[in-house]
Amino acid sequence: MTPNSQTITAPAAILDGLQGRDCPVCGAPEHAARAFLSASIDPARIGALSFASRKVPEFMTFRLVRCETCETVFAAEAPGAEALARAYRDAGYDSAEEARYAARTYAQALAPRLGAEHRGGTALEIGAGSGVFLQELLDLGFAEVIGVEPSHDAVAAAPAALRPHLRVGVFEPGAHRPGSLSLVCCFQTLEHVPDPRGLTQAAYDLLRPGGLIAFVTHDYRAPINRLLGRRSPIIDIEHMQLFCPASLRRLLDEAGFGEIATGAIRNRYPLRYWLRLLPLPGPLKPSALAAAEALGLGRRSVGLNVGNLLSVARKPL
Ligand SMILES: [Zn+2]
Repeated sequence: MTPNSQTITAPAAILDGLQGRDCPVCGAPEHAARAFLSASIDPARIGALSFASRKVPEFMTFRLVRCETCETVFAAEAPGAEALARAYRDAGYDSAEEARYAARTYAQALAPRLGAEHRGGTALEIGAGSGVFLQELLDLGFAEVIGVEPSHDAVAAAPAALRPHLRVGVFEPGAHRPGSLSLVCCFQTLEHVPDPRGLTQAAYDLLRPGGLIAFVTHDYRAPINRLLGRRSPIIDIEHMQLFCPASLRRLLDEAGFGEIATGAIRNRYPLRYWLRLLPLPGPLKPSALAAAEALGLGRRSVGLNVGNLLSVARKPL
């Protein structure tokens, strides 16, 4: 089999056997949800990077509806859990520099919420990529860090010192002892999982009393995402659901968490990364990128509020 024929067979695997879904946060039935965005899928454009992190946006999506009960936007039909796990297992990985910048942003935003009782314990990151945030957690003083990550390529890109902390695969609650964790993190991953409610409830059980859960998600209600509409980077075939502050509060509250705080965070990235994300037509994007590099600005770090939310909540004592 040539590499080309593999690329062509991949879409069939992910698009075959789509399953109908009800709201993945509150369980309200799909037929009671309101239309949000029609489907836009070009099977020929689904490649190895479609399920990779921080890729160039493709603006493809399953049919999206918005739950009238909890305001979560979700794919009304989506691949099953096993098909998704396979897609992420085989996903390419090409975002090392961006991942380092994102990890620094999240560590700085989370640090003020961490007490000595958290830092002395064990942290779990679901969707850990190449483990760069695990390094931030070690630097923050965590006694032990564990990352689960489905992409082989991402884990293969991890620094050697972090490799022992990473497990290749999807999050399996049974692999951890209930009440054993002081922090569970899930950054830019909650949109991708088939069952965010199940994940949140499992995290609750694995945390010890007083432990924290931290999510970083997109906010589909943020001005930039409303402005860009179908051309927003949040419109992505990987996204099984999209959140807003109300839906995140519902998710965390129903799982039993208290002291729920959600707020926008400013992401710091190199200018060249922001330019890659811009919805510029045709040749404008390469031109802008070339100009930035020629001026020596491509590596310049720029902080912007692009509609990302940090949500932190505590398991009651
Ligand atoms: Zn709902």
